[in-house]
Amino acid sequence: MHRSIFCSPSRYTQGAGVTSMLGQELQILGLEGPVLIVAGRNAASQLSDLWERSLAQAGYKYDIHHFGGECTGLEIDRVTAKGHSLGAKIVIGSGGGKVIDTSRAAAADLGASVVSCPSIASSDAPCSAISVLYKEDGSYDRYRIYGRNPDLVLVDTTLIAHSPKRHLVAGMGDALATLFEAEACQKSGALNTRGGAALQTAVNMARLCFDTLMKYGRAACVSIEKNEVSQALDHVVEANTLLSGLGFESGGLAAAHAIHNGLTRVPQTHKMMHGEKVAFGTITQLIMQQADKALLEEVTTFCKDVGLPTTFADLGLDEISDGDLRIIAQGAVAPEETIHNMPFPVSEQLVIESMKSANELN
Ligand SMILES: [Zn+2]
Repeated sequence: MHRSIFCSPSRYTQGAGVTSMLGQELQILGLEGPVLIVAGRNAASQLSDLWERSLAQAGYKYDIHHFGGECTGLEIDRVTAKGHSLGAKIVIGSGGGKVIDTSRAAAADLGASVVSCPSIASSDAPCSAISVLYKEDGSYDRYRIYGRNPDLVLVDTTLIAHSPKRHLVAGMGDALATLFEAEACQKSGALNTRGGAALQTAVNMARLCFDTLMKYGRAACVSIEKNEVSQALDHVVEANTLLSGLGFESGGLAAAHAIHNGLTRVPQTHKMMHGEKVAFGTITQLIMQQADKALLEEVTTFCKDVGLPTTFADLGLDEISDGDLRIIAQGAVAPEETIHNMPFPVSEQLVIESMKSANELN
C-alpha cells in the first residue's frame, strides 16, 4: 500500500543554558527514572554539576557511563549492562553523534526512553531513530533503525557556542546534503528511512535547512569563534540538528551519504568528521546528477568559505591511488547503499568519475 511517513522526536528544546532544565523537561514528558547518562569526556567534565542539581531537584536517581570513544556493538553492550544493573528507564546521550547513537542503541535494548543532549552541532544524529555502527577499526559497519524517535532532544546553545568551530562546520556539511538527497528520493520514488514516501513537509524542511546554511552559515562561524550565542548560530544549530535530522529521515538518503560510507573504507579519511566527508559526497552527488552550474558553484564556494573539504587533499587523500578510488566506489555502490535511491543507475565507474570531477572543480 502506498503510504507517506513523517516522524520526529516528541519534544525539541533549544536555548542558551537549557541543560539546567533537564530534570524539568523529563518531568513535563512524564518520564520516570532511574536515568543512565552516557557522557562524552567534555560533556561529563562540563555538565556534571548541572546534572546533579537539575536531576536531583526533579527527584531523578542517575548514574553516568563514560563513553568509550566509538559506537560499536561492544560499547553498546557495555552501556546496556550498566543500564540493566541500574534498572534504567531513561538513557540520556550527552556528547557528539557517536555518544548519542550508542545511547539510543542501548536504550532500545533496555526498552528505555531516549534523550539526546548534543554538546556539539556536528551531525543530524540527535533527532533521528537511527544509529550508525562502526567496527572496532573505525570503518563503517551498519545502520540500526528503531521504531521510535527520541522522547526529548535538548540542545544547549551555550555549550555549542563553546565547542570547536570544526564541529559546527562538519554539522553544516552533513546538513548540506539533506535537500539534495531528499530531492533525489522524491524524483526516483525511493522510500525514506522509515519505509514510506516523503511528505512535502520533509522536503520543505530540507529546503529550509539548505537556505538557512546559505544565509547564516558564514555568520555562525564568526559567532562560534567568539563563543557567542547569536541569532545566526541559533539558526544554524537548528538547521544542523532539527531540520537536517527530520529532513534526512523523512526525506530519504541518496548518493552523498553512500559516498561518505565508501570514504570510510580508506583509513586515511578516519581523521575526517562524518559531515566533512558528507560535504564531499554532496558535491560528488551534484556532479553525478548534472546539477546546475550555478548551484554547484554556490555549494562549493560555501564549502570553501566555511572550511569544508572540496578536494581529495582536503580529505587527507593527497595522492589517492586508483586502487583507493575503487575501494571507495565499491563501498558507495554496495547493494544495500542509499546511492541506489538516485533517479538513475549508479555504477562504480560513475562514482569514480564524479569524485574525480569534484576534486578538479577547484
Ligand atoms: Zn549524516
